[in-house]
Amino acid sequence: MAGVQEREPPDVTRPAGISNIEVVTQNFDAAADRIGLEDDLRAVFRGSYREVQVQIPVRLSDGRVRVYHGYRVQHNGARGPYKGGLRYHHEVDLDEVRALASLMTWKTAIVGVPFGGAKGGVNCPAHELEPAQIEAITRQLVDKLDQTIGPHRDIAAPDMNTNAQVMAWMMDEWAKLHGHEPAVVTGKPISLGGSYGRENATGRGLVYCFREAAPQLRMTPAETRIVVQGFGNVGSWAARIAHDLGCRIVGVADASGAISAQQGLDPAALRRHLDEGGTLTEFPGAERISGEEFLALECEVFIPAALGGLIHRDNADLLNCRLVLEGANTPTTPAADAILRDKGIHVVPDVLANAGGVVVSYFEWVQNLQNFRWTEREVNDRLGTSMRRAFREVSVRARDQDVPLRLAAYQLGIERVVEAARTRGYV
Ligand code: GLU
Repeated sequence: MAGVQEREPPDVTRPAGISNIEVVTQNFDAAADRIGLEDDLRAVFRGSYREVQVQIPVRLSDGRVRVYHGYRVQHNGARGPYKGGLRYHHEVDLDEVRALASLMTWKTAIVGVPFGGAKGGVNCPAHELEPAQIEAITRQLVDKLDQTIGPHRDIAAPDMNTNAQVMAWMMDEWAKLHGHEPAVVTGKPISLGGSYGRENATGRGLVYCFREAAPQLRMTPAETRIVVQGFGNVGSWAARIAHDLGCRIVGVADASGAISAQQGLDPAALRRHLDEGGTLTEFPGAERISGEEFLALECEVFIPAALGGLIHRDNADLLNCRLVLEGANTPTTPAADAILRDKGIHVVPDVLANAGGVVVSYFEWVQNLQNFRWTEREVNDRLGTSMRRAFREVSVRARDQDVPLRLAAYQLGIERVVEAARTRGYV
């Protein structure tokens, strides 16, 4: 495939030498080629509509002031208000936020929720900060993005290292400026207008995709071994919901290391162990393994649910599964995609597989605007309907054109956004 070449990564467990923006641009260009999108329109969608960068000074525990950078990138709003998560991670930079914002534009279009795409981030080392410092960062961010966000303008949500508490602080800070409007963020605590089912929606959406893909690949839950890379919100919920369905979780990795358990491990017990301060590698009943052994674990389904770019040119060949379900955003580089394809491994791409989060964010927003709460059952059933429909639409396109699911998904997403932009007279 034409495009940016991957640079040398030092070892197989390190991220790829290709940035998220390069990955997303290559995927976009491949799909734009297939649908014959004109060059002048490509230029519109390659860039972002609005990029805001703000300074966030915070006094640290040692008394010194440290300046972090906060970003909000609005990629495209043709289909509705901008929508996307907020990530706190020391590696966040403008390019990464740009990539993740454009992914949201395609994701919302693919699953058919009436939002545009945006993303935010702060380059702070979330794990080293006290809750009071995270709160101070969050409140400053809302003050400084005051003219950029809003319930009908741009609605944030949790992403890596942000959660319902961070959304509560955002909502509260917004309320001081504009009055109480819960719809300004999604992923809030239930007690503050959050939706039932939002916390585990991304993991549940992944499992809905598995359930759609399984019959095509002649897989049944009882015979499915799953390996999960990353055990945060997405990975741990996907593991728990898949385990409830009858699948066996045979490997888990996080930033501290990797474990395997051929007989299967209990992901709810692992979550409790970690919440009580235990480390992954000390989880009873599991064997500690190297990063390389982890990637090569024999399984049916591999779920990347950590940082982007972890499956790349130099390690994709190690994967020993039949299906990759992308819980993370941009976990697989284009070079790795080609290697997986040659190995006969199917990939359900991020823009489809992990869209359950934004689908239930949409449900939360709708409930907030209506001042009416749905039951958890209603939320999960509607999520299932949305995910099944999106999966089938993407599969039909992939089959009709004999292309991988990622290319088919991007094509559908781009077509829908271009049509909305044209009809509104944006382009
Ligand atoms: N951060 C999630 C994502 O990447 C959810 C975004 C949202 O709910 O707005 O899809």
